[in-house]
Amino acid sequence: MNIERAERLQKLPPYLFQELDRLRDQVRARGVDIIDLGVGDPDQPTPPHIIEALNAAAQDPRTHKYPAYSGLSRFREVAADWYKRRFDVDLIPNQEVITLIGSKEGLAHFPLAFVNPGDVVLTPSPAYPVYKGSTILAGGVPVEMPLRKENGFLPDLAAMDPALLQKAKVMVINYPNNPTAACADLEFYERVAALAKKHEIIVVSDAAYTEMAYDGYRPPSFMQVAGAREVGIEFHSLSKTYNMTGWRIGFAVGNAQLVAGLGQVKSQIDSGAFDAVQLAGITALTASQDCVAQMNKLYAGRREVLVKGLQGLGLEVERPKATFYVWCGVPAGQTSTDFCRKLLEEAGVVSTPGVGFGSAGEGYVRFALTVDEARLQEAVDRLAGLGL
Ligand SMILES: *Cc1c(COP(=O)(O)O)cnc(C)c1O
Repeated sequence: MNIERAERLQKLPPYLFQELDRLRDQVRARGVDIIDLGVGDPDQPTPPHIIEALNAAAQDPRTHKYPAYSGLSRFREVAADWYKRRFDVDLIPNQEVITLIGSKEGLAHFPLAFVNPGDVVLTPSPAYPVYKGSTILAGGVPVEMPLRKENGFLPDLAAMDPALLQKAKVMVINYPNNPTAACADLEFYERVAALAKKHEIIVVSDAAYTEMAYDGYRPPSFMQVAGAREVGIEFHSLSKTYNMTGWRIGFAVGNAQLVAGLGQVKSQIDSGAFDAVQLAGITALTASQDCVAQMNKLYAGRREVLVKGLQGLGLEVERPKATFYVWCGVPAGQTSTDFCRKLLEEAGVVSTPGVGFGSAGEGYVRFALTVDEARLQEAVDRLAGLGL
């Protein structure tokens, strides 16, 4: 039998990291001690008080049932309280908050609720690949908004074609940003909200990294600006903040109609996040946030080692204010893929080519601060040996 995948899968962009994954496995098989700075997954364990909360919740037979579709009321109240404490944003828990099985789940399902075949979705480039993929799966047409260094890796809103804005149904923004580590201020968010209102564009704000920030910097939320709640939905994750990537827990907040539409799609696809995981999530959001401060201190120390090291090699790198990524310019005359291949084959260091996040990521590679300072120094020393 001839089995053909649906056209929507054939339309997905090729997975550019596949070739590098294969190469990494090859190099590792040669016995090379690989330093993997490729994947954006925290290396430290989930804090013990959160694991204990899961253990206790999993013992309670009431958590063994199907969860409520929109999530535990208590989880949504806690998420709303957290937004109030953290951003001074008021949310109605049972209308403006929904539990997600990780924020990727929500981001991926969102277009199914609001994007019709042929609708334009403005996605950043470079970006987390899910925005584009989920748009295509919904039949939408992703149009890239290039994030350029000269604009602080923010989309150049003033330069956007008014005809395109008129056509666009959704705009995706993500700050603090993966992969560039760029940050947005409230003034930028105000301009996004005003533009969205003018052109009737839904704003999807991916806020996965608001808690991973350094030197006292506190990244804002899109929801803080006037009009955001009319046009927008913001996706938040416990994954990076509390080292909980494997647990699959996040939430979305914002416009009640946007939250409800996402909920309607989810009710056809999943049956909610495990209540015990939501109960552990409540503990994460309500207990002391010292564990977050400690992680940020750890990442800040690593950041110094890698940023200083790369700068010492003459590479173009800025010290990130947030996220655990270092966005590094590739030496002139090389593509990001060639450069990554060289680092891997000649130094055993895994990085991610910028072009894998979108064409505007060409010229850069991303390093994740997911190994300890000594290993980062080892990576820098190995790169020094290459004479870049
Ligand atoms: C890691 C990440 C997420 C997703 O996290 P979940 O584990 O699905 O909550 C979302 N957006 C960006 C930009 C990320 O890097």
